Amino acid sequence: MDKTQAQARIEQLRVILQENSRKYYVDNAPTMSDQEYDFLMHELEDLEKAYPEFLSPDSPTQRVGSDLDSPFGANAEPGTGGDFIKRPHRYPMLSLGNTYSISEVEEFAARADKALEEDFSYCCELKFDGTAICLTYEHGKLVRALTRGDGVMGDDVTQNVRYIQNIPQQLNGDFPDDFEIRGEILMPYSSFEALNSEREDIGESPFANPRNAASGSLKLSNPEEVGRRGLWCTLYHIPAQSVPFTTHDEALTRAASWGLPVSADRKLCRNISEIKQYIDHWDKARKDLPYATDGIVIKINELAAQRALGYTAKSPRWAVAYKFKAEQACTPLLSIDFQVGRTGAVTPVANLAPVQLGGTTVKRATLVNADQIASLDIRVGDHVYVEKGGEIIPKITGVNLELRPDGAVPPEFPKFCPDCGAPLSRQDGEAKWFCPNTTGCPTQIKGRILHFMGRHAMNILAGEATVDQLFEAGLVRTPSDLYHINKYQLMSLEGWQDRSAQRFLDSLEKSRSVPFERVLFALGIRFVGETTARDVARHFGNIEAVANAGLEELVEVAEVGEVIAGSIYNYMHLEANIKEISRLKEAGLQFTASRSAEALSDSLAGKTIVISGNFSISRDAMKELIASHGGKCASGVSGNTSFLLAGTKPGPEKLQKCTKLGIPVVSEEEFRAMLPGGIGVEESKELTLF
Ligand code: NAD
Repeated sequence: MDKTQAQARIEQLRVILQENSRKYYVDNAPTMSDQEYDFLMHELEDLEKAYPEFLSPDSPTQRVGSDLDSPFGANAEPGTGGDFIKRPHRYPMLSLGNTYSISEVEEFAARADKALEEDFSYCCELKFDGTAICLTYEHGKLVRALTRGDGVMGDDVTQNVRYIQNIPQQLNGDFPDDFEIRGEILMPYSSFEALNSEREDIGESPFANPRNAASGSLKLSNPEEVGRRGLWCTLYHIPAQSVPFTTHDEALTRAASWGLPVSADRKLCRNISEIKQYIDHWDKARKDLPYATDGIVIKINELAAQRALGYTAKSPRWAVAYKFKAEQACTPLLSIDFQVGRTGAVTPVANLAPVQLGGTTVKRATLVNADQIASLDIRVGDHVYVEKGGEIIPKITGVNLELRPDGAVPPEFPKFCPDCGAPLSRQDGEAKWFCPNTTGCPTQIKGRILHFMGRHAMNILAGEATVDQLFEAGLVRTPSDLYHINKYQLMSLEGWQDRSAQRFLDSLEKSRSVPFERVLFALGIRFVGETTARDVARHFGNIEAVANAGLEELVEVAEVGEVIAGSIYNYMHLEANIKEISRLKEAGLQFTASRSAEALSDSLAGKTIVISGNFSISRDAMKELIASHGGKCASGVSGNTSFLLAGTKPGPEKLQKCTKLGIPVVSEEEFRAMLPGGIGVEESKELTLF
């Protein structure tokens, strides 16, 4: 791989990881397995190590995935708040370095051995698969509960946490006056199954796994409903500076004596062979636990040693997570369906003889694409290995060739679209076959309309069944058709009444004020997820500017590289799309970024600013601040840059480029002085890392 290829791959990996991080932490609806996500993250880490010139503080390798509610309150589940107060953590809440290999655990132990002069031991614990929580007790009373958020700020979910039964409101014994304790909120399998069957009964999509269910439930806006969800808590860490103990194990023992829920399944280990025994034991025994675990955590037990080892930007150096490999089952493959998606991609889906896997019955699994079928050499009748990932629909990972029935033949990938019959095509470098009939293929049309109406897009109150019905009745072919439907047409359809029709029309009316950035996302441009749509909308300000932008201007937007820029450019130059945008405009949708309520001034209007380094607030908050004063952020320094806003440790390449092009470099202090009254940044709090 040469440098240009590496840069392109880095960009691609960042986009994939950022989108999936959002699906996982904010929507609670991941579409890839944790293992896949971790492998892509490790690939990115390796590339950034090999090409440090492309390292950026914005990279997913440098930050913890954020669960903070989006400004739109766009969570996957109805009834989620979206308006939790954000509060700073006293000490940052970080992630954990992780590995799937014992030899990397050995390397972790060897590094600790080398760095530490004093003897030390390890505390091995279960890695509970839920969502992280930080509780604060003052004078023995629970006063605050924050989610991990972006590690610096968390969502305040205190009211909800008060309804979780095993979290004490009042402690007993000789507890410290004021301390924090961290742990995990879990949903036991029994509550998870009950919740999912209830959701399926009322036509809502089930949660993919107990982790997502726990995290979604913790963010509900009704605390009593949180109480009914049967959540459970286990605590595993008191930040060392909160309390005067000498070991981690002692801190947890004392916490248990105050009435706090601490797992007794931890074990002190003296060496790597004891750690391995612990891993081997729990890799089997965890299957009998009433809740999900996804690995074990190995922590250096002595707090002085922890302090000596310290932290990276993302995780402590004194701990590592060893993750268990996904569970597998083996079952016969009965048949293969070929399904078309919204983008026209055709995905093979396997129908399986029902088999138990990770607590649920599995009947269908994805075969990903034609190459995957070929590389696994899979045939109908084979016994196949299935693994569960992040999705509800698991994956086939291999074939037991010894059980292959006589005469089994390789399946043929269809040559024509299973829905509209158009000949399928595959472009160079694409793994998937596509139906090119974008404007005539019913599945693609309905998929695009469904995406357009989605909660994160125009938030129109209707689901798949309504789209099917409107399509069958010939009322919609493109999203703009929705705005021409009237009440009488709706009421002539089966099952519609005055109230339901009015509700639908009201939500269409409401969608006319959805901000431009969400309208841009709703258009369904390939590779343009919510974050990219927001960045593009804020950068260009209106649809005309986006449509007129050349590739060079598009890549000016932070995190937009050649792939995304190409996709936006192509979309904006297709006749059918130009027409559709103009019809949507006529329908009254927002195609200009409005000066939101948060717009503070226009003191940065017309300025294109590149930020580099670390600031007293997070980089995202800094970008928001620039936007709220009318400025635009760009990722790279160019002739169009107004100034480089440099925090601590700005990128040397950017600084050099500024010198070369004569572009001013402005410090955070100077920048604040440009804002009206020098305001806008909350007085920054010095953050101690440990
Ligand atoms: P993580 O889940 O790998 O590990 C850190 C977390 O483990 C801590 O924040 C804590 O909440 C938890 N934990 C559980 N038991 C613990 C114990 N005994 N001691 C200390 N911590 C304990 O890291 P993360 O940052 O929360 O999440 C990143 C992971 O999430 C990725 O590695 C990936 O597996 C998954 N992820 C998946 C997707 C996807 O699309 N599937 C997307 C984003 C993230």
